[in-house]
Amino acid sequence: MKRDLPATPAYTDSAEVAHFIAGQPVQGVGERTQAVFNPALGTEARRLRLAAKPDVDAAVAAAQAAFPAWADTPPIRRARVLLKFLELVNQHKDALAAMITAEHGKVFTDAQGEVSRGIDIIEFACGVPQLLKGDFTDQVSTGIDNWTLRQPLGVVAGITPFNFPVMVPMWMFPVAIAAGNTFVLKPSERDPSPSLFIAKLLKEAGLPDGVFNVVQGDKLAVDALLEHPDVKAISFVGSTPIAQYIYETGARHGKRVQALGGAKNHMVVMPDADIDQAVDALVGAGYGSAGERCMAISVAVLVGDAADKLIPKLAERAKALVVKNGMELDAEMGPIVTKQALERIEGYIATGVQEGAELLVDGRNFKVAGHEQGFFTGGTLFDKVTPEMKIYKEEIFGPVLACVRVPDLAAAVDLINKHEFGNGTACFTRDGNVAREFARRIQVGMVGINVPIPVPMAWHGFGGWKKSLFGDMHAYGEEGVRFYTKQKSIMQRWPESIGKGAEFVMPTAK
Ligand code: NAD
Repeated sequence: MKRDLPATPAYTDSAEVAHFIAGQPVQGVGERTQAVFNPALGTEARRLRLAAKPDVDAAVAAAQAAFPAWADTPPIRRARVLLKFLELVNQHKDALAAMITAEHGKVFTDAQGEVSRGIDIIEFACGVPQLLKGDFTDQVSTGIDNWTLRQPLGVVAGITPFNFPVMVPMWMFPVAIAAGNTFVLKPSERDPSPSLFIAKLLKEAGLPDGVFNVVQGDKLAVDALLEHPDVKAISFVGSTPIAQYIYETGARHGKRVQALGGAKNHMVVMPDADIDQAVDALVGAGYGSAGERCMAISVAVLVGDAADKLIPKLAERAKALVVKNGMELDAEMGPIVTKQALERIEGYIATGVQEGAELLVDGRNFKVAGHEQGFFTGGTLFDKVTPEMKIYKEEIFGPVLACVRVPDLAAAVDLINKHEFGNGTACFTRDGNVAREFARRIQVGMVGINVPIPVPMAWHGFGGWKKSLFGDMHAYGEEGVRFYTKQKSIMQRWPESIGKGAEFVMPTAK
């Protein structure tokens, strides 16, 4: 059965998607265009106009012009704009989710979940007066007080991936603009439409023109942002090679950068775990959103006899996955975002077979009736995967789950700690001490105990370790506030407390 599509707003229905600068949708001067697909149908849905350098310059100039007044707006008034925006996003939640499904492919209920996790961050950012409250020390020396405050940076940019076209931008801009910055978003070219709808809702909420701008584009637009002298900070989320490039290039141009990269997330199943719960967790976290999540589980680390108990059940579930158009009510997994990504994923499956892993469930050449051109693959399951295999080492970013067998917890921890990525991980057990040891010893930024996808809540901050994050500040939460502000310390005294005569020694508390 098909779901009725919520009404989508006028300008994302149009044949062309372009930019949003200084409060207006604009076509820009860039002449290159690129197809945006509906991955379930495998057809071009609309065209995206890619920015040329003057388009990026126009967006940054609009943001720069809007900055002084926005930075001077009292935080509580900035928060009120976000509160109105929150109300509008809640009102249009299903329209946003349908836009995500139409261009990304993930199932509609999952897209609704994505919007909800974005909403969490808007709610967090609405508390910005409390978050920006400085600290004050009375009498650091006789007659002298010292306090600190946090001020916005100026124009900041966000460069985001295809896999969360609503949530990941919302990791960034609500916090950035609440803190008094102005923002330029460069969304993924695969699913650009939600960004324009977000811009429209922000304007409707009363955000002054120029505070939030969108430029569509590819490497050219990204490089223009990285090199622009008026862009003070860059938040990036995407694959590791690009994250590293963004971090290095941004830093070379004197910018503050947080660049979140790829992942290979392991879930350990101890022999004492509830095996049925672990199977449910692996199916959801491995195949949900077709494995196109940076927190997807792509490696099951099965300790001792957990493997023999779990694998037959897991294989049965992987074979039975309901794969179809994400707008179908009973879909569990939708298509892959593009044909190229589908070919890459199926190429990895072939590599796994060549490397000698045991292919238990083969998702290749999956066809959905009525959607023969859609970019579908089924769930794939490998057993007896070993650490030297390419399918173990590299991020596949698709519905391919690799099982690795290890003898004990120490071997599981060692395996995970040796991997170059360190985004998320989980351990399924009933033993409190195992859970505690795992959480303390693991070299990974986000850890779940019997929680397969431990994406931190809005006020905790998101970020991996090792090659999953370049930079030292995590996204959103208090680290997000720190990233988008700089600290100023002010020391003050008044003439009545100033003694006579010059002092030539280092001032100390008196
Ligand atoms: P991607 O790296 O291809 O693209 C991300 C952004 O970078 C896009 O806006 C894209 O236009 C831009 N870009 C691409 N190539 C570029 C280049 N050569 N120079 C400059 N900019 C370039 O990533 P993707 O395929 O859109 O997203 C999937 C990846 O993102 C996966 O690796 C996934 O793990 C990762 N991801 C990580 C997190 C996290 O929080 N760590 C979250 C979501 C996704």
